[in-house]
Amino acid sequence: MLNTNTNSPKTKENPQPQQTIFKPPNITYTNTTEEEKTMNQTVKIINQAKKEGRKALLETEAKSICTEYGIPVTKFNLAKNEKEAAAQADQIGYPVVLKIVSPDIIHKSDAGGVVVNLKTPAEVSIAFKKIIDNATKYKSDAKIVGVLVQEMAPQSTEVIVGAIKDPQFGQTVMFGLGGIFVELLKDVNFRVAPITAEDAKEMITQLKAYPLLKGYRNAPVADIDALVTILCNTSRLIMDHPEIKELDLNPIMAYVKGAKTVDARIILE
Ligand code: ADP
Ligand code: MG
Repeated sequence: MLNTNTNSPKTKENPQPQQTIFKPPNITYTNTTEEEKTMNQTVKIINQAKKEGRKALLETEAKSICTEYGIPVTKFNLAKNEKEAAAQADQIGYPVVLKIVSPDIIHKSDAGGVVVNLKTPAEVSIAFKKIIDNATKYKSDAKIVGVLVQEMAPQSTEVIVGAIKDPQFGQTVMFGLGGIFVELLKDVNFRVAPITAEDAKEMITQLKAYPLLKGYRNAPVADIDALVTILCNTSRLIMDHPEIKELDLNPIMAYVKGAKTVDARIILE
């Protein structure tokens, strides 16, 4: 079911999203007023990136935007050193995942910048050093913002939500299942934004692989309503912010109850 709560965070101060422990906000944007548009975190994050001449938002930034738009993401916190990383892992709860945060590294795994399933402070500490080391080897002059410590999302069926600006149709939302379904079988559905909940449901149920989300064989049943909400909120986000050229929530873990975005990328025009 769609959450139509219209409470909005009128953030007067400017908390740094990267440096605060993730707090799930009690909001899902529906109608955004002009005032909210000028006050929200999303605008501040986008403006900051523009000011710095960056087109690709950091994962911390993309996930903060997702959070503001009611798109669930893994708990995360930015660490600047090993000690901070271990303390944050304690706070988030084990196991955790560590990831490089650098404006110069878009595909983090390619750079040896993702280490999953860390179970102790000692493992976190070792992974922190390894990630920094790998990043420097990958690109010696890479600007390193820090290392993201995040909750490890339990494995489940992976789905993908995307958005592009089609030259002909404009902002378009995409839905598919992760892995071979997108890469090999191109089993994805597109709709021009803005989309309704009915559109979103069709995007999901008209996939060839839809039976998998219904628990085909041993696949876990997916919470379709949670995926509908993510699609509608993504549509709202790209309609509110036409400067978003590309959005990629890949993967999102689909659970029996709820869903969680594990990686988020946003590219500006
Ligand atoms: P990139 O796409 O930039 O290489 P990702 O953040 O997608 O990096 O991480 C690579 C892979 O690691 C993901 O596709 C997912 O399988 C796994 N992964 C990353 N973060 C998490 C997490 N928080 N919980 C569980 N698995 C994760
Ligand atoms: Mg990814």
